[in-house]
Amino acid sequence: MLMRLPTSVSEAQEYLTEGAVPVGGATLVWAVWQRDGFPDHAMSLRNLPEANRIEAETLGAAVVLNRIDDRVPEVLHRAASTVGTGAVRRTATVGGNIVGSTLRCLLPAALVLDARAVILEPEGVTETDLGEVLAKRQLLLSLRWHTPITSNYVKAAAEPGGPSPLVVAAALHAVAGGGALLRVAVRFDDEVFSENVSHHGSADETLSTLRRGFLGWLPAQAQELVDRQVTGLVSRPSGR
Ligand SMILES: Cc1cc2nc3c(=O)[nH]c(=O)nc-3n(C[C@H](O)[C@H](O)[C@H](O)COP(=O)(O)OP(=O)(O)OC[C@H]3O[C@@H](n4cnc5c(N)ncnc54)[C@H](O)[C@@H]3O)c2cc1C
Repeated sequence: MLMRLPTSVSEAQEYLTEGAVPVGGATLVWAVWQRDGFPDHAMSLRNLPEANRIEAETLGAAVVLNRIDDRVPEVLHRAASTVGTGAVRRTATVGGNIVGSTLRCLLPAALVLDARAVILEPEGVTETDLGEVLAKRQLLLSLRWHTPITSNYVKAAAEPGGPSPLVVAAALHAVAGGGALLRVAVRFDDEVFSENVSHHGSADETLSTLRRGFLGWLPAQAQELVDRQVTGLVSRPSGR
């Protein structure tokens, strides 16, 4: 297997056209390759500056999870800090988690930030929504979003042998002309649901609007966690 390590987007584009398979930290793909055979070409974005940015409104796909800190919104920082073990977080990348894993603990956080995916295609760099990247498994270069007023994330304890643990991510965004928009994403029973509602200052009103949507279908345990997270979030004065 030839491992490509592009240092520019045009180089990465060339390797992608040659059919190089993306690889992050290889925490998942290594076992698959050992079982099914190694590809001729693989490509890691670890030396590509565009895939290594950690900024207030950008996160590169090659960033290793344990490098994600409070430069990004709390929801994303906390999501990364709950993934797997310390050893996994030292190796696994944003791109591998969002595009390549099944648990995708970063996905609810990215959804409530309304993050856009910056991807590389044989034709060049373009921007798309996360749903499309997941469906087509495109090469993710980075995520970008607008800083929310505030955000939070919680992951419930996993039950041994059960489905992936319940996750609630929420972010409050300023709206042009006043008011705020609350985005909530819940991972329940291995599926991610998300909802956006206007927030006019009353947590009770916002929660009852949420319950008229997907939240109303969730079991009591999930609803309680959403209630707690949303109430805590909208009562904060401000901040990331
Ligand atoms: C013990 C253990 C515990 C874990 N616990 C959790 C958990 O609690 N929550 C959670 O969310 N995940 C968990 N995971 C999964 C973990 O997040 C993944 O192993 C990791 O995200 C994969 O990242 P990687 O960089 O190693 O990807 P790799 O193994 O390198 O690649 C995985 C797939 O992603 C593709 N890929 C990699 N980078 C890109 C890119 N930039 N663009 C497009 N495709 C790309 C590869 O082609 C491959 O198909 C756990 C894994 C382990 C081993």
